[in-house]
Amino acid sequence: MHYGLDVGGTKIELAIFNADFTLSDSWRVATPGDNYQQLLATLAEMVDKADQTTGCEGSVGIGFPGIVDSLGCAVSANIPSINGQPLVADTLKILNRPVGFENDVKAFVLSEANGGAAQSQKNVLGLVLGTGVAGGLCIDGQLFRSKQNVACEFGHIPLPAILQQRYQFPLRQCGCGLLSCVEEYLAGPGLLWMCTHFEAGYTSVPALIKGLQAGESKAQKTFDAYIDCLGCYLAQLTLMYDPDIIVLGGGLSNINELYPPLAAVMKQYLFKGVTPPNVVAPKFGDSSGVRGAAFLGKCAGE
Ligand SMILES: [Zn+2]
Repeated sequence: MHYGLDVGGTKIELAIFNADFTLSDSWRVATPGDNYQQLLATLAEMVDKADQTTGCEGSVGIGFPGIVDSLGCAVSANIPSINGQPLVADTLKILNRPVGFENDVKAFVLSEANGGAAQSQKNVLGLVLGTGVAGGLCIDGQLFRSKQNVACEFGHIPLPAILQQRYQFPLRQCGCGLLSCVEEYLAGPGLLWMCTHFEAGYTSVPALIKGLQAGESKAQKTFDAYIDCLGCYLAQLTLMYDPDIIVLGGGLSNINELYPPLAAVMKQYLFKGVTPPNVVAPKFGDSSGVRGAAFLGKCAGE
């Protein structure tokens, strides 16, 4: 049995997967706010409960919004209690088994590349459009890893000048400290910011999509600009990685209207003769993070 743990800022989810990776059970508890020892105790309790449920000692993988640094310490802005703590050593000790760790977005990409929407594809690029923009690359089913763990932090490259100029966008300050990152325009809050920029008046993404479906012109104008920016960005990622497929994730990946126009837009930003890769919705959606974590645990235990 394989357990995936998705540790988030507000909740921790544990999901139990059978040997063939079908989901057998899952539950969530609140993340202990600012107490690291309490968080470790909660992880131990959840894994203990899973062991009792399955009657065996399952493998464990943990996904969280952050990275593990070269010393095995967690770096996470979203979960202050684990920031700087020796999470790897402590978790191995309390759970008494190998534990796989990964950034939650990378875990999502790993899941979609293994049995998900990108199954059987060699080079898989995953892009999560949620509260931020983040991604990962899977080659032959394995995550591409890099020296400083910043490979695929492509939410923090600048939006091209051609788009800034076309739509008269101001250079927006990103939370990462840089200016004009694509995240500020293409994440969920970025799309809402575009609604304000184009004076469309929508205060939520569902309201914008409803307006789009009703044929409202300001919704169409905002959405067209967003698709232009997203298509340009995906074309740039294609020139960098030439993936066989791009899998979207995060809240915005649920917008069905996103997919049909993308190929034609991407083509406008690619050289002649370059075919844009298919851009698809995830198979496991919100559950892919915890599934990817379990997959990682399986590998750690082998
Ligand atoms: Zn940034």
